[in-house]
Amino acid sequence: MAAPVQLIHVFKSYVDPPVYIVDDFSLSINENEFFCLVGPSGCGKSTVLKLIAGILTPTKGELVRPARVGMVFQSYALLPWLTVQGNIEFAARMQGFDSDKVDAVTQRYLKMVHLEGYAARYPRELSGGQRQRVGIARALAIEEEVLLLDEPFSALDPVIVDELHQNLLEIWKATNKTIIMISHHFEEAVLLADRIGVMCDGALKEIIDVSLPRPRTEEQAPFMLEVKKLRSCLTPAP
Ligand code: ADP
Ligand code: MG
Repeated sequence: MAAPVQLIHVFKSYVDPPVYIVDDFSLSINENEFFCLVGPSGCGKSTVLKLIAGILTPTKGELVRPARVGMVFQSYALLPWLTVQGNIEFAARMQGFDSDKVDAVTQRYLKMVHLEGYAARYPRELSGGQRQRVGIARALAIEEEVLLLDEPFSALDPVIVDELHQNLLEIWKATNKTIIMISHHFEEAVLLADRIGVMCDGALKEIIDVSLPRPRTEEQAPFMLEVKKLRSCLTPAP
């Protein structure tokens, strides 16, 4: 089956004459894959995700992407004047679904993120972890194949993050999504991903296949070995 997302020698500059923030970037994402992109702050990860989302267009190169993707942001980006249910319904309505389908997808994804009891709350009445669950449900409610997440858990405390990792893996399994997630946590990337792309200065430096069986735990020796491998990719040679 064709790769749902492909970047072929993609370049992106925000200025003219060009300074390439994304510099000759080629990557093909497989259907139903969980792909993590890691790299130092400022190396261009969010720019790559925005290109895949269609928020930005490449300066040069070819990009294959679906017409619409679900997107989850670090800052949640919920609509504060709508309830949890209202935020999810809004996304479904924007897809042009009729009211029966809007109701059905809203209930389905409220349940999937374990927020059935919170439908009538407003974002300000939720914890950070609960807000991000709403962000995920909203991205799912558009019912597109590809789900993009830009450091979705970076602002949350570690216990909550563990729960959200498990929830995201359940969702991935239940929905067969193709997931592309940015992380700056090596352990998070090894815990979740089938493959990890290591990005540096706008370029894809390496792709690591994580061949560990699931469920994975950080206590496993092979797990730490993968993390070490990843870390060494981003450590400059002495
Ligand atoms: P990352 O997500 O890896 O931290 P970004 O893709 O956000 O990196 O940013 C990469 C570089 O592009 C940074 O140097 C940033 O300052 C620059 N940049 C990001 N967005 C813009 C923009 N809209 N205009 C100009 N420069 C930008
Ligand atoms: Mg970023």
